Order: sequence, then C-alpha cells, then structure tokens
Amino acid sequence: MDLFSSKVTFRKLLGAWYATAQRPLPWRAEPSLYRTVVSELMAQQTQIKTMLPYFNRWMQRFPDFTALANATAEDVLKHWEGLGYYSRARNLHRLAKEYVALDPKPANREEWQRLPGIGPYTSAAIASIALGQPAAVVDGNVVRILARLTNDAHIFKNNGAAVKAFTARADELLDNENPGDHNQAMMELGATVCLKQKPLCTICPVLKFCVAYKHGTQNKLPQIERKTTVQVEIDRAWIIEDDKLLLHRIPESAGQLAGQYELPELSAVKARMSPQLIASKSRSITHRRIKEYIYETIVVSIHDSLEWVALDELDAITLSGPHRRWIRELLKDR
Ligand code: SF4
Repeated sequence: MDLFSSKVTFRKLLGAWYATAQRPLPWRAEPSLYRTVVSELMAQQTQIKTMLPYFNRWMQRFPDFTALANATAEDVLKHWEGLGYYSRARNLHRLAKEYVALDPKPANREEWQRLPGIGPYTSAAIASIALGQPAAVVDGNVVRILARLTNDAHIFKNNGAAVKAFTARADELLDNENPGDHNQAMMELGATVCLKQKPLCTICPVLKFCVAYKHGTQNKLPQIERKTTVQVEIDRAWIIEDDKLLLHRIPESAGQLAGQYELPELSAVKARMSPQLIASKSRSITHRRIKEYIYETIVVSIHDSLEWVALDELDAITLSGPHRRWIRELLKDR
C-alpha cells in the first residue's frame, strides 16, 4: 500500500495502535505544558527508562515553572546530576525564568522557539502535544521509521541532514486533527517497535506500508555517516587529606559540564611523591572514547580552580556522573 496516497489509513492504524500500546508515562497520565517541556528536554539524548526517576524527582522538587525559576542553579544541577548533557538543565532553568516573566506567554511554535534550549524538534513537540497545533516532530526515531517506510537508501552526512530531509514527509503524514497524539505515536513506534537493531516488524501496526520490510532492507536503514572515533587519555589525581578529597570545579565558561565537580587533572597539582596509578577507567562521550588514569599522590601546592571537599559532603555537590561512580568505588577500597 502506498504510504502517501493512503496517509489517512496510515494515521488511523498508527493512532489505534498508540491508543492501546503506549507506555504509561507520567507526563501522559497527567499532561500539562510544564510537564511536556520538562519531559521533552530530559528525553533528548536519554532513554525514557533512565530519565523516569529523574523526572519524578524533578516534579516533586520543581512542580511548575515558578518553582523552577525560583530555584538556585546549584539545586537545578543537583537534580539533573547523572543525566548528562547539562546544558539542558541550565537552559530549562533559564527558560523557566523567562517564561515566568513573559506576558503574554508564548502561544505557538515560533514564540516557543525563542526561549532557551528550544529548537525545531522541541518547539514542534510543545506546539503539537501541549498546544494542539500542527507541527511534525522529527528526531532519530521518526527519521528511522520514515527511511524504512519509504526504503530511502540515501547516505546522510549526519543526523541533522537526515532530519532536514525527512521533515517535509513527516509534515505530509501528520494528522492535523490530532497532531500531539500522532507525534507521540511516531516516537513511541520508534522507541518500542521500529528499533534501531532488529525492528519488531511482525507486530508493527504500519507493516503494510513498509517498503524496506518488503525488500528486507530495514536493518540497513537509515544510512548516516559515522563520525570517526577519537581516542583521548587523561591523567587524574586522587588526593585525600584530613578526610577531604581534592576536586576541580568546572568553570561556568566551560559549556556542557559547567558547575560540576570532577577529579582534578594530575597536571593541576604539584605532587610531593611520585604518583601511583590506582585505577584506569573508560567512558564514551558521543564519538570520543576517553581513558582516564587515576593516580594517588600527596600535594605540595594546588591550582586555584581546585577545592577540598569533605568526604561526607560529596553527596551534596554535583559531580560528573562517571566521576561520582569511580569516587564511590575508590572510597570503598580505601
Ligand atoms: S515494518 Fe518494521 S521496519 Fe517497517 S516501520 Fe514497521 S517496524 Fe519499522
């Protein structure tokens, strides 16, 4: 069945599937503009099951725009700790402050897009889900579904190029009567059925439209050029004195990770004894594979940007996710 000449049938099948198959998520059970905004920003770069406890904790602490606007930057970061991509938390905080001050409030996609952290994807999600306005959301999930439905084997330079290429098709398929549910149904289909690896085609509600399934090419689509992996190595210092751990506070000018604490780089301390390697850890940030070597030492002098933090106060500060994990492990072994 041709997708675009039968789009009304496509929308009906997708909508009927979503009505019964959607996961019960807190922002769906109790929808509001604020909950839509928070859930959309949290869900970027993060899987739903990972973000759920964060979302619930966030709603308890910052139940609305005003509560968030009145919070300190530290409190906001603390409640985001572990989710990564911290510019989202800072943008959400700034957005709440601007939103509370605005009169009249932003009423459509274009006006929402002027607020911090709101790009084409999030503004379409807010406009369609919270305001009921027609705007198709196009993210990695939607790209994947559309590339497979249409068996589009074009090689895209990056995700942005793929999103751009599929936006017109997503707009054409959008159910203008019910844009919020339609968009959420597409995202849900991508998250639960049209999976990156091994899509569950036999239970797919729109299987009869899928050209890739017909040709057996679904596992190869979409085709997006991969960034070359970059290997990075960093030496870190592990220094404890008087039950205090020496940490580096990432400066506000640092972008993504600003305001968080991490183990200092070895080069930022002048060591009194030759450093002993006590652990080596690996992590990945997008296409960077980072190997961090942690050395125990005693210092003579430290750089200005470093701070001593009492061991029993570590829970109260915002540490970068992997560093909190590693610090816990190393303290356990002490
Ligand atoms: S049939 Fe398979 S590949 Fe096609 S849209 Fe459905 S889940 Fe995706």
